[in-house]
Parts: sequence; C-alpha cells; structure tokens
Amino acid sequence: MLPAIRSAYFRPLGKSVGTISLSSLGFTRTQNCLNPNYTLTLTSSRNLSINIAIVGSGPAGFYTTQKLLKDPRVHVDIYEKLPVPFGLVRYGVAPDHQEIKNVINSFTTVANSDRVNFYGNVNLGKDILLDDLIGAYHAVVLCYGSAQDKMLQIDGEDSLNTISARNFVGWYNGVPEDKNLDINLDCDTACIIGQGNVALDCARILLRPPTLEKTDITRHAQQVLSKSKIRKIYIIGRRGPIQTSFTIKELRELIKLNESGTRLDPDTIFQDYGVTQSNLVKLSRPRRRLTELLLNVSANKSWDHLQEKVAPNVECIFKFMSKPLRINSDFKTGRVCQLELQRTEYPSTAIFMDEKARPLEIDEYEVINCGLIIRSIGYKAVMIDSNLPKDNEKGAILNTDGRVHGHSSLYCSGWLATGATGVIAGTLNSSQITAKSLLDDIDSKRLTSVKYERPGSKLIMRTLEAKSVQVVHFNEWLRIDDLEKRLGAVVGKNREKLVDVEKMLRVASGLDHE
Ligand code: FAD
Ligand code: NAP
Repeated sequence: MLPAIRSAYFRPLGKSVGTISLSSLGFTRTQNCLNPNYTLTLTSSRNLSINIAIVGSGPAGFYTTQKLLKDPRVHVDIYEKLPVPFGLVRYGVAPDHQEIKNVINSFTTVANSDRVNFYGNVNLGKDILLDDLIGAYHAVVLCYGSAQDKMLQIDGEDSLNTISARNFVGWYNGVPEDKNLDINLDCDTACIIGQGNVALDCARILLRPPTLEKTDITRHAQQVLSKSKIRKIYIIGRRGPIQTSFTIKELRELIKLNESGTRLDPDTIFQDYGVTQSNLVKLSRPRRRLTELLLNVSANKSWDHLQEKVAPNVECIFKFMSKPLRINSDFKTGRVCQLELQRTEYPSTAIFMDEKARPLEIDEYEVINCGLIIRSIGYKAVMIDSNLPKDNEKGAILNTDGRVHGHSSLYCSGWLATGATGVIAGTLNSSQITAKSLLDDIDSKRLTSVKYERPGSKLIMRTLEAKSVQVVHFNEWLRIDDLEKRLGAVVGKNREKLVDVEKMLRVASGLDHE
C-alpha cells in the first residue's frame, strides 16, 4: 500500500502554480502526471530533512522540539549553555517542589528521539554566534529564557548581603556560577522585596521546611541554612493585598509551614480600606479565594489543622504599600543594615480593590533594620546578539507568534518570547504557538531556506572542535544524572547536584565516576 500523500509540487509546463503536501512518498525526481500540461515534483520525507536548531534546553526548548517533531521531515539539534539540560526545572523550581520536576521524564523521551540531538556545554554568543546557527540551519528557535535580574535602581543596591532572588535560588539549587554566593544568614531580619511566587519560594527556603534535607538542595546551602539566625522575614510589596503576584497554592503552603508566625503589615489594612468579605464578590474567583486567605491571616484565624513543624519562632510578615527607597549599609563592613521604604496609598476602596491599580506615593517613610535583602522583582532576557529586536516592556525578544521581527528564519519561545512570567504549563502554550508558526512557514514556503540543503550540526561541530569546546551529548548527561542520584542516596537525598562545570565535564566524558 502506498503511504499517505503529504507534499507535491505542480508546475504548468515551466510555471509553478502551487503546492500540496506529501508526507512519506518515495519520489525524489520530477515525474510526469497523467495530464501532459503539468509536471509534478514529488519529494520524500525520507530524503528531505529540515534541520532546526533550538537554543536552550528548558521547558520551552523541549516543548518546542516535541511539537516540531510532528513533521517527519524535521530534525532538531538542541544547544545548551550548561553541560546539563532542563533549565529552570532543574535550577529554578524549589527543592521542596520535587513533583513539578517530573516533566523531566517527558523531556527525556523527547531527547531520546532519533531525530533529536542534545549538545550541552555550548554557549550561544560565546562558543558559537547566532549567525553561525542561522547559516547552518533552515531555522533557529531561541529558547534561552531570562537570565538577567530586574533592578530596583535605588541607592545601596550593591551593598553586601543584598542579593537577587535569581542568585539565591541558583545557590540553593546548584547553578555553578552561584555556588560561591557571598550570603550571610547570621542576622535577625531578612527583607524580601517583591510579592511574586519566587519571593515565596525564597521565604519558604529561609523557613527551612522539614522535608528539605531529603531533596536535591545543594549541600553548601543546607549547611548555611542550618545555622541561620533569621527570626523575621518581611515580604514587601509596593502595592496592596489585591495586587500581589503570588498564587493561592504557594501562599497556602507558606501559611501551612508557619501559620502561627504569619501576619500582615499593616494588619489593619483591610479594615483601613473598609474591606469585608462582602466586598470580595466583584473579584475574579482566584483573586477572591486568595484574598479570603489573606483576610483570614489578618483576622488571625487558626490553621492548626494544617500546620507542619518548622523552624521555631520565625515571624513571616507580608508588608504592603511600601516602596523601596534606599538601602543603607554599615560603613565599616559594607553590609546592608537598613531598608528605607516610602509608604503608598490608594485614594478609595474601589481603587484598592482593583487588581491593576497603582498606588500614590505619600510623604510617610519607614526604616527596617535588617541584615539581608533579597530582591525578587523579576527577571529579563539577555540579548545575546546586538541585532535581536528587543521588547523592553516585557524584557523579551520582539516577536509575533514566535516569529522574531525582522529575521526570516529566526523564532523564539518560552520566557524569551513572553517575558519572565508564567509557569511551566504557560511555556508549553508559548512553544505550541511558535512551533505552529514555524511549521506553517515551512508548509506555506514562507521559510525560503528550506529550498536549500543546510549542513546543521556538521558545520557547527567543526567550529566547536576548532575552539576545543567539549560538547556534552544526552547519553553523557545521563552519566552525570546517575552519579548525582548515587551521591544523593548515600546521604538520604534524592540527588546531590554537581555544582562544578569542570567536574561535570569529567563525569560526562567517563573520566570520573565519583
Ligand atoms: P528556562 O527554563 O530558563 O530555560 C532556558 C535554558 O536556556 C536554560 O537551560 C539555560 O541554561 C539555557 N541558556 C541560557 N543562555 C544560553 C546561551 N547563551 N546558550 C545556550 N543556552 C542558553 N513553574 C512551575 O510551573 N512550577 C514551579 O514550581 C516553578 N518554580 C519556579 C521557580 C523559580 C525560581 C523560577 C524563576 C521559575 C519557576 N517556575 C515554575 C517557572 C518556570 O521555571 C518557567 O516557566 C520555565 O522554566 C520557563 O522556561 P524557558 O524554557 O523559557 O526558560
Ligand atoms: P512576578 O510574579 O512578576 O513578581 C514580581 C514582584 O516584584 C511583584 O510583586 C512586583 O510588584 C514586584 N516588583 C517589580 N518591580 C518592583 C520594584 N521596582 N519595586 C518593588 N517591587 C517590584 O515575578 P517572579 O516572582 O519572579 O515570578 C516569575 C514567574 O515565575 C511568575 O509567573 C511566577 O508565577 C512563576 N513561578 C511560579 C512558581 C510556582 O508555580 N510555584 C514558583 C516561582 C515562580 P508589582 O506587581 O507592583 O509590579
């Protein structure tokens, strides 16, 4: 039986009139149709291969690959900066959220496809350039995430022990470049600036959930956290309780850990604006449920039935309507000692209840004495090539449905395309949109590069060899994976991550088994 027809190319004696798809038919040369006025050029999926480079092996890289593989002509090479895959699934998701990391299983299935290659330890912008990839592939999809901090742009931001959440998360999760983070927990009070889910992750880790020691948290973080003297954690928002970015599951988790120590500041904030249960009806359902939970905290309701054991006597305070103004440091040590805040205010209850509202700054100030500040105000993308069009508002690459503006064979997906917002499932959505755009462009011939052969990794590997870059293949990552699991088992953890790139490379090449 003949396989289903996928693509064919009709020409009325010399002139092209259109295309239909043939998928796996074995024709490779022009053949005459029954109609003598037309010739039909048939291509076989077995012979025509479309080479696509993906940059970044986080959720966007893998989801985009998975969707592109639906076209049997597509071959994907995934380039990753680190010797290990999975991006923020490995290096962002909190160690006490192990279940979220199960997506790694489906990513591994994708990596094992015979139409996918993983090339780890290849840094785009350093080891290879974007132009190298564009020249070698029919299309390039950038999925390299958002690896830069947003800044507060206030005085004192560079004080010692004022760190970004990105570095703090990287430190406890084993990002090689964060392993030596200069952090000191030998103080009474920590301020976390920002009220998103990353801020709650940071607060939870400072609270040290009892399950933490069995997870893949790094040994160095475990040791420092176990000696923490922090007794007060402020989670500070410049807006009110209706405008927080964190979600109910994460808030509930924090309260569950530390119910007796969690409070709002000002604890009268709902009363001050005349908000009661009945005002909440106009809110969207998720926002209403979250606000009800905060109302309960402010009313100091008991959650004894939920409570787990956590570091005793740690207070966790949600501070609202407080805009960071200045960070002061000890003039002898250079270490942060105070956070200055300016109060903000809403002119009416109706505005207080508006999820999008921005408050007014007022002439009231406050100083919190603290020894640690974690800035958790979001991430933005690095532009690895000066020709990439930038969406400054989103901190992303300018694109429409994943098509990078001004570049015909360049696409992007995930946080790099949407800005650093959304969970892994949202990244799946973005990847689907981008993959669809690319496959549509192949089918509609908008992607003109597919008319010609492209050498793909053959060319790129030559460049990497010339630069003596040790490329880590997926089966070599599995050696690292295996060793990490074995090292973890010895100490009762599910994994002990390697945090040194040189060590990773030795293990990958089989030269080091421990
Ligand atoms: P990333 O995951 O960042 O992947 C980008 C990849 O590109 C990385 O592997 C990186 O090393 C690589 N790369 C970067 N630069 C280069 C370069 N120059 N060359 C080659 N490769 C490069 N979502 C949830 O659903 N649940 C959670 O519990 C959760 N927790 C989170 C915790 C934190 C701290 C953060 C920051 C996010 C969390 N998220 C969570 C959100 C989730 O991690 C993101 O939605 C998702 O990882 C974005 O995927 P991405 O592929 O776009 O980017
Ligand atoms: P985020 O959700 O955007 O939160 C950023 C916070 O920083 C907001 O409260 C924001 O307040 C505040 N902020 C920004 N600029 C500020 C400034 N100049 N001064 C003071 N405050 C400022 O970002 P995120 O917490 O980094 O999270 C990124 C994404 O990852 C989110 O979509 C999050 O849901 C996801 N994530 C999910 C999980 C999970 O599912 N468990 C865990 C971690 C992260 P304004 O609103 O006033 O701007």
